[in-house]
Amino acid sequence: MQAGNIERVSIERVLAGYGGVARRAQLEGHGIRRAAIARAVADGGVILVRKGVYALAHVDADVLTAVRHGGEVGCAGALRQRGVWILDDAEEGSAAPSSRPHVWIGPSGRQHRHAACRCRTHHETGERGVGFGFVDVLLALIQFACCASPEAFFVAVESSLHLGLIGLAGVQRLRESLPARFHELLDLADDRSESGLESLLKLRLRRCGITLAAQVQIDGVGRVDFVLGGRIILEVDGRLNHDGASHRHKDLMRDARAAAQRYETLRFDYAMIVHDWPTVLAAIEGRLAALGAVVQGASVVAQGR
Ligand SMILES: [Zn+2]
Ligand SMILES: [Zn+2]
Repeated sequence: MQAGNIERVSIERVLAGYGGVARRAQLEGHGIRRAAIARAVADGGVILVRKGVYALAHVDADVLTAVRHGGEVGCAGALRQRGVWILDDAEEGSAAPSSRPHVWIGPSGRQHRHAACRCRTHHETGERGVGFGFVDVLLALIQFACCASPEAFFVAVESSLHLGLIGLAGVQRLRESLPARFHELLDLADDRSESGLESLLKLRLRRCGITLAAQVQIDGVGRVDFVLGGRIILEVDGRLNHDGASHRHKDLMRDARAAAQRYETLRFDYAMIVHDWPTVLAAIEGRLAALGAVVQGASVVAQGR
């Protein structure tokens, strides 16, 4: 009994040392015998993921799928795991992005057959470590550039910069690895955007020559989400709040104080900005034109290009 427990602990410790997943040869290299592995599997603490590869029972389901497929979690899955902001529906042809694993097996890796495989296989060149898990952020961004829209890619790059997952050297590496059509997006990216929505607005408004400032403190009003063209306050309603009368009253008070300072307030929800941009843009441009601000802003940017 005692010996069995010690063996079991050491298998789990060795697996943990490999990030939760290891090949049988790696376990045997640490002196763990086949019989002990079989016992741990029978106990349920360790699972056989595919022939010759074992994992701790609590390992991330995406990682297990990637192992079954023959590689590591890449693309959006690897970015999400690190907290990178990923636009909803960012991945090509997918209503539920997380339901389709993108698995990196490297240029010469072997793709394994497994039940219920819906994986998209990535073959890019990269450093394959000894373990299984998630590809590094740079490789994930390179993969995401191929699988996602340019906007979703830009948002993910800015989020990675803001989180400190990549720096300027990383952006340079992306420039070298990706086709020229991505270079303008990379040139525009910086680490200041505090949310994916901010990155998206920045990119979309820039195309229209409208300046964007985020998290602006306005005397008497407070901190507002965005100021556009120096004249419009854009507030983004969250998905959960703004359902109570007190919230509504607070918003109306803010709008009134802003109006007193010659700001126009427009409110949109997240879904409108992401999925119904023409409606949002028409509203913004209409108000800016009425305020006489857009023509000047657009011409300045146009000259700067
Ligand atoms: Zn992908
Ligand atoms: Zn698969």
